[in-house]
Amino acid sequence: MRTLVLSAIILLSSSLAFPTGAQQSLDALIAREINSLVETYKMLHAAPELSHREEKTATFFAGQLRALGYTVTERMGKFDRPEWVGYGVVAVIKNGDGPTVLVRADMDALPVEEKTGLAYASKVRTKNDAGQEVGVMHACGHDVHMTAMLGTAKILSELKNQWRGTLVLVGQPAEETIDGARAMLKDGLYTRFPKPDYAIALHDSPDFAAGTISITPGYALASSTNVDIKILGVGGHGSRPESTKDPIVLAAQVVLGLQTIVSRENSPLDPAVITVGSFHGGTRYNIIPDEVNLQLTVRAYKEDVRQRLLVAIERVTIGIAIAAGIPAERAPIVKVSETEVTTATYNNPELTERIASTLAKALGQENVVKGSPIMSSEDFGYLSLDQQIPTTYFFIGASDGTKLKQSKAAGVPMPSLHSALFAPVPETTLRTGVKAMTSAVLELMKK
Ligand SMILES: [Zn+2]
Ligand SMILES: [Zn+2]
Repeated sequence: MRTLVLSAIILLSSSLAFPTGAQQSLDALIAREINSLVETYKMLHAAPELSHREEKTATFFAGQLRALGYTVTERMGKFDRPEWVGYGVVAVIKNGDGPTVLVRADMDALPVEEKTGLAYASKVRTKNDAGQEVGVMHACGHDVHMTAMLGTAKILSELKNQWRGTLVLVGQPAEETIDGARAMLKDGLYTRFPKPDYAIALHDSPDFAAGTISITPGYALASSTNVDIKILGVGGHGSRPESTKDPIVLAAQVVLGLQTIVSRENSPLDPAVITVGSFHGGTRYNIIPDEVNLQLTVRAYKEDVRQRLLVAIERVTIGIAIAAGIPAERAPIVKVSETEVTTATYNNPELTERIASTLAKALGQENVVKGSPIMSSEDFGYLSLDQQIPTTYFFIGASDGTKLKQSKAAGVPMPSLHSALFAPVPETTLRTGVKAMTSAVLELMKK
């Protein structure tokens, strides 16, 4: 109750200071909430949970939304592995006829041991799926996303006279493992709940100053596909190569051969990446092993480009094995993952322009930049159902502006997302997140 009385006083004094204008009243509402939002953020930051294990986070998140008057469903999401519980949260609030707008925040953290030294740093340790002990950290800032959503949810529940339609807030599990959005769709996100006319999401970024936004029309993030290649040889003594088929040399040729797919087979106008991130084979100096295992990540924007890359990877790999005289029954095995895959994030240009100009009005034109597409990946794109539903996804700056300038001048980048040192500036980042998301929703649902 104490906070309620205090809030009322702050609201009153803010509205006296800013008697007119929707922006001012939104600022005042955010000012009233910001201390409690920063507290929520620090609490979530100190208690991260890995993908597929967001139990406590989701319970807290759902409880907060329920207390705000939303109709909340918990434990949403069907994963391929039956032992993984879907901890998805769907919170719906209906406010008469009008569009259905979905806003998504992701909830999972990463197996990273935090090294920020902040007072609210995570000290959480747990065992990962492989049974290894790991530190856990919100190193991608999904705690920022959840907190910004809670602030947005509260303000929109109070501003019901300014919007109409159905608002669907989604707490998504397992973004880092890129299977959470699909798990929620599989569990009826668009059949058990109102199917959205628009879906939007934000992500924090250390590449921009807190208080600013970067938004990219069209393709914003790439698709990502994991590929395993098993190169089979014929092992033997390291001193007798003539009696073997050396899979290490073969795998080395494959790694180099794959580089020509992007540089020689793909149009330079279609961005693509093939990275071999892992190369494992052999046990001893003088033993030629029987096999080498490679792990690849493949990135592209367009689906036809992705398909061509995958076909070429298999063709090049098998071709090199044939050239080396590997017998047909020992041909390489190329396996494209069906689960460790995600679609590209395509920002519907019309919707993106509309949101960008809304954000520019809310935050100042100088604080909203048109960003460049990147080859990182996300699973938010699935919510567009292959671009049938207009979606947009924007970045909110999370870095201290002065430090960011210094880092650019010195040529030393700020700690990136997933870094043990990633430390968003809480207050300004959250203010901007809440203001951006609230303004975007009000634009799409305005009366
Ligand atoms: Zn991440
Ligand atoms: Zn993330």
